Amino acid sequence: MEGMRSPIESGCPDGFQYMHPVMRKNYGDWAYHEDPRPGVLCHTARGGDKIYTVRAGTQRILDVFTLRKLCDIGDEFAEGYVRFTIRSNIEYMVSDATKVEPLIEALEKEGFVVGGTKNSVAMISHTQGWLHCDIPGTDASGVVKSMMDELIDEFKNWNMPNRVHITTSCCQINCGGQGDIAINVQHTKPPKINHDLVANICERPAVVARCPVAAIRPALVNGKPSLEVDEKKCICCGACYPPCTPMQINDPEHTKLAIWVGGNHSNARGKPTFQKLVAAGIPNNPPRWPEATAIVKKILHVYKDNARDWERLNDWIERIGWPRFFELTELPFTKFHVDNWRGSRRTLNASTHIRF
Ligand code: SF4
Ligand code: SF4
Repeated sequence: MEGMRSPIESGCPDGFQYMHPVMRKNYGDWAYHEDPRPGVLCHTARGGDKIYTVRAGTQRILDVFTLRKLCDIGDEFAEGYVRFTIRSNIEYMVSDATKVEPLIEALEKEGFVVGGTKNSVAMISHTQGWLHCDIPGTDASGVVKSMMDELIDEFKNWNMPNRVHITTSCCQINCGGQGDIAINVQHTKPPKINHDLVANICERPAVVARCPVAAIRPALVNGKPSLEVDEKKCICCGACYPPCTPMQINDPEHTKLAIWVGGNHSNARGKPTFQKLVAAGIPNNPPRWPEATAIVKKILHVYKDNARDWERLNDWIERIGWPRFFELTELPFTKFHVDNWRGSRRTLNASTHIRF
C-alpha cells in the first residue's frame, strides 16, 4: 500500500528567484534611499551598490497583450526584472542610472504614466470584485480608472503636501476601503427577499447568524421556509447577500457611493486613525462616476491649497477641525453624518452562536 499522499504546496513561489541580482545581493543591507524625480527611487546599499526603481501606473486588471507589452519594455529598456506593488503599479529595477530616462520615455510612448512616489497622489488601490467576488455593488476598478484619468497631474508630480492614498471598494462590508480618502459603496435600503428561491439556495441558519444586528428571522412564506427582515433594525450592510443571493440588496437606484476621509494605517509619526464619513448618497453612476470624482477632486484641491508641507490629510483636518473642513470643501454637513446608532451595545452580533 502506498504511503500518505504528500501535500501539494501551492502558495506563493519564493520571491528571491525573481529579484534583481543587486537587490538579492544587498537584501537587508540598504543604507538609504533618495527620490531623484517623480516616479523614480534610488536605493543605496551599505556597500555602495545603487539600484533605481521606475514606477508606472497600470489599470490593474491587465489583459495579456498589455502585460506582454510591459514585459517587452522591461526586457528592452530595463534589465529584465519587474514587480507589482499593492497599488497595481509596475516597477522596473535598473542598476545603471543612464537607463532611467530611456525607460521612462519608452513607457510614456506606450501611454503608461510614470509617477506615484513621495508627495503625489499614489495609484488608487481597489478591490476588483466585479471579476471574482460574489457581492460587489459597483465596479471599483472602473471608479479608479475614471478618477485617475482626472488625477494624472497629481500622480505625475510632487505637488501635494504629503502622499495621498486613496482606496475604493466594491461592497459595503468590504475587503478594502480605508485611506486618506476612501470611496465605498453605501446601501440605503434593506434587502428585498425573493421568497421562492430562499429554501432552494440558502442555508437559513448561516444567513441568520450573518446579520450583525440580529435583524433576520426564519419565517414561513406561502407555506415555504424563508426568512424575514426586521427593517427597523436593519443597517443595510449587505452582509446577508453573500450567503443568500435571494436577499437582493444591490440596485441601480438605492446603492450609492459614500466618501470617507482621514484614514491612516501608519503609526510612523502619530497613531493610526480611522476615517470619517464626509459625503453620502452619491450616485453610483457608471461608466465615469462624475459626481464622486468631482467631490474627490474638490477635497484634494482644498487640501493641496491649505495644508502645511508634510501634513497628511488626517493631520490637516485635526489641526483645522471638522467644521472648517466642511466649510472649505463646501460639502453639506447633514444629520446623516452624526453617528448616533446605539444598537450595537445590545444587539451587535459579536459571537458565532446562531440565534432565533
Ligand atoms: S470589496 Fe466586497 S465585493 Fe469587492 S472584492 Fe472585497 S469583499 Fe468582494
Ligand atoms: S445582514 Fe445587514 S443588510 Fe442583511 S438584514 Fe442584517 S443588517 Fe440588514
